[in-house]
Amino acid sequence: MCEVQIVLVEPSHPGNIGGAARAMKTMGLSKLVLVKPKRFPDPQADWRAAGALDVVESTVVFNTLEAALAPSVLTAATSARSRHIPWPVMNSAEFAEHVHKEYSSTDIVSVVFGREDSGLTNDELNLCNMQVQIPSSSNYGSLNLAMAVQVVAYDLFRVRSQASPTENAWDRPLATHQELGSFFAHLESVLTEIDFYDPENPREAMTRLRRLFSRTDLDQTEVQILRGILSHIEKATHKN
Ligand code: SAH
Repeated sequence: MCEVQIVLVEPSHPGNIGGAARAMKTMGLSKLVLVKPKRFPDPQADWRAAGALDVVESTVVFNTLEAALAPSVLTAATSARSRHIPWPVMNSAEFAEHVHKEYSSTDIVSVVFGREDSGLTNDELNLCNMQVQIPSSSNYGSLNLAMAVQVVAYDLFRVRSQASPTENAWDRPLATHQELGSFFAHLESVLTEIDFYDPENPREAMTRLRRLFSRTDLDQTEVQILRGILSHIEKATHKN
């Protein structure tokens, strides 16, 4: 089983940060990451954390979601909503099984949670490989932030106690979020240069390409090959 980090994007209530920390510790998780929290540190976070003060105290704060996700080989955005361009989606139990089976102990997997009032933006959802939904009522399916963390952490805890599957022996380490991000930037710049992609009128091409490459678990060598191809296209176009 991989290392799972819980990422909260711009939480506004410190109580939810403490609540999330407690939810995590009770389920054996300890890595909490915050992106631009409104109020943190805050006594309310400590109070709601109760016996999980150590998780709150070791929390790491980032200014951007991309920086928070940089070392991850898999990023999952939690959201109750379905998307305009559908992304790969699992419910929280399927997600737990998936990470238990497919990722090894050196892999970092991030589960991203949105703001209390507005969730995650489309751009934030696009940064992630997949979406995780907690099955809930069609009348009102939006859980409190810390409670959503609890459900996901519980599903992960349940599979952790199962026998560990034999580690999937892939021949190369998986590409990290940061390596994929540099590849996407390189791809966009080459596609713009060869007039395939018009940044003024982007429509959906880049989003769809992101989805394509995000769902294939690219390894580091594959990303290097793809970037090598892009560099050769750049060289060839500069020659002409
Ligand atoms: N009003 C917001 C909901 C925010 S709830 C919206 O429309 O998106 C705060 C966060 O809890 C969400 O961003 C998500 O990360 C998580 N969450 C709440 N309910 C969820 C559900 N049913 N499935 C997955 N994540 C959920």
